[in-house]
Formats: sequence, C-alpha cells, structure tokens
Amino acid sequence: MIYLKKLPEKEKSPEKCCPSVKEGNRYINPWPSAVPKAKKFNYNLWNKRMYDYFTSSIVAREKNQNLKVDLDLPTITKYYEDINYNNNIKIQVTWLGHSAFLVQINSFTLLFDPFLSRRASPINFIGPYRCRDRGFESFSELPPVDFIVLSHNHYDHLDKATIKEIFSVEKNKKTHIFCPLELKSWFLGLGIPENQVTECDWWDEYEITKLPESFDISNETQTQLNETLTSNNNTTTTTTTTTNNNNNKINIIAVPAQHFSGRTGLDYNTTLWVGWVIKNPETSCYFVGDTGYRAIPDNCTEEEREKYPYCPIFKTIGELYGPFDIATIPIGPVTPANRMSINHTSANDAVNIHIDCKSKHSIPMHWGTAENLSIDSIESGPAELHEELKKKNIPLEEFQEVFIGQVYKIEKHAS
Ligand SMILES: [Zn+2]
Repeated sequence: MIYLKKLPEKEKSPEKCCPSVKEGNRYINPWPSAVPKAKKFNYNLWNKRMYDYFTSSIVAREKNQNLKVDLDLPTITKYYEDINYNNNIKIQVTWLGHSAFLVQINSFTLLFDPFLSRRASPINFIGPYRCRDRGFESFSELPPVDFIVLSHNHYDHLDKATIKEIFSVEKNKKTHIFCPLELKSWFLGLGIPENQVTECDWWDEYEITKLPESFDISNETQTQLNETLTSNNNTTTTTTTTTNNNNNKINIIAVPAQHFSGRTGLDYNTTLWVGWVIKNPETSCYFVGDTGYRAIPDNCTEEEREKYPYCPIFKTIGELYGPFDIATIPIGPVTPANRMSINHTSANDAVNIHIDCKSKHSIPMHWGTAENLSIDSIESGPAELHEELKKKNIPLEEFQEVFIGQVYKIEKHAS
C-alpha cells in the first residue's frame, strides 16, 4: 500500500522556483533561452523534409533489428527480491530504450516515460517506429511497477498501448501514476481510478511511504496516520511484514523543463511538461525529461552559441537537489537547429546540463530507438557526446551511452 504526503513549500527563491506559467490556457517556457533565434525560417526546406519524413514513416522500417538489446531480468528481479534484507545496491537504473527507464530505489520500482510499443503515433501505420526490441515479452516478467512517472504527453513518452499493457497485468492493478498538470483526465479516460493518479506542478514534492497491505487507512485514522508519519518515521512500520524502515520511503519532486506538449494538434501546450527528481537520504536521481537548453539559429558557430542565453533551471535543480548520483539526459534530436534547439538538447547542451545539475554520472537518452522520430539518424548522438566531453575534459565514463537493457547500479559504499 502506498501513502503519499504532499510536502509544504520549501524556503525557495520565488524568482528561481516559480510554479508553471500560462498565457491564456496554454503553458509557456518563461525563459529567454526558449525564444526562437532564427531571423527567418526556410519553409521550403522544412516542407521537403516533412514530406520525406511522412513518406518514409508510412510503413514499419524493420532495420536495426539486430542491434544489441540485453535486458538483464535476473538482476532486476534479484534487486526486488533482496531489497528488504540483504541488498548492497542503493539504486539500480535500466534503460529500456528512448526515454524509458526502470528505476529501482529502496523498495520501489518506478517506470519513467514507457514508450515500449511499436508506434509513437495516434495512427498505427504512420509515425515514429520503435525498431528495437525492449527485451521482455510481458510485464509479468518484471517486478510489480509501483509508479509510472511521465514527463509530458508526446507520443514517444506517453504511450497508450504501453500504459494499457502495464495495467492489464494483475500485479500492476494498483500502480500509481505521477504526471504533469492537466494530464489526470487522460488516465481517468483509460479507466484508471482517480486515487491512483497524481498531477504535479513544477516544484511539487511528495513523500512516498510504502505501508504493509494490512495497514488500515480509514478516514478515522487518516489524521492519526499523518501525525504518526510526521512525528516519528519509525512508527510507520507497524507490522512484521516491513522490517527495514529506511527502505520504504522516497521523495519525488516535479521540476521544470524547457519543452512543449500536445497530442491532437488542438491541445498545444494545454498540459504541462516536467522533469523528475527522486531522492532518499543517501541517493538522488534526476530524470531530465524532454527539454531544450539554449535556442540557437542554424549554422551557429561555437563562439556564437555561447552568446545566447541558456536555461537557468538546471543550475537551480542542482543547487536544491544535487549532486545527483545519476541523471538521465536527452541527446537529440538536433536538426534543424533553429527549430529543435528550442525544445531539445544537442550533445553540447546535454554536457552543460550534466555540469549545471551537478551529476556524478549521466546516461544519455532519447536516441537509438525509434526510426523517423526526427530527420536525424537514430544512431546520432553518442559520437557528438564523446566529442563534447573531450572538449570539456570530462571522463567518458561520467556520461556514457548504455545498451538497451543494460543495468546501471550504484553500491551503497560508493561515493
Ligand atoms: Zn516531447
């Protein structure tokens, strides 16, 4: 049983930590870094590229089928089974392709942005096609998913087929969803109970406690439970089924990102977009979500790029919640720069985010998984990332690509 407690606003600078901002009924990115920098836009070139994109994405493209996908299910399951008595791993993160990550921390299993079906599209024969396997047949092979955590509603992040598939498995009937503002109704439309969906604004923070199934939270005991949880953490474990109190609690914080939203063409920016921080007293993890860092024009030289403003939120997030043991950071798409740089990250941007948020180890995402997601090759990203790391004298091991299915673990004695 999951118990959620919304934490009061911390002492934060209102200038740095403002809630989301709307103009009319649409959310905006309130930073100069999101303002387009192109003086003029080449519509002919763009239209040709869009034509190529649509015609090439009409059928499933079965290439890249043999590239390595190596999901280590025994390692994932062992973490889940061992956590309450003999686990030396403080966090375990598995990339499932694109922006999907399985994060295991304390006794919790969280699934971020699970696009794990074949199409990121409202139409099943056109649009971005996931050409790489996910490494497992059914969600029954994975541990129960405690939380699905969504960054925004684009099809390559919020995938209806995957959400329905997760809830179709008996052990996931009580899975709880964290999503940005104004997305709750979408989940209720799928038949997911209202008390299993929590919408968050930027900087909302929840403390999550896992209680034994036998724990009775009736209306009469709610106030008492609140007091108990607030006054003495140790008393939350009231039965013998949960023995290690440190393992049954984490915090989750919705943080800003520089992006946009929409699924239908009519709902542009009517729902919010976020990144997520997951913390316990000894571990911190930052899922950056889909984001831009610095809008630049096409053909921008390195020197020119530095003159344009960058998004300040990553430094703020680093100051408030860093340093991070792990951050997952997108590395594309990038072409054309004057359009993509507003809401997506180049390798240069990704390395800047890695530095700004004080990440000790970062994993690149949003690459290598889906054909026709953009006009860039699905393999682009890592080579450019390596170059940027070299330029800034950052060891490659600090921010290195992983295989789909590769499990990244941090042991408890590691710094
Ligand atoms: Zn997106």
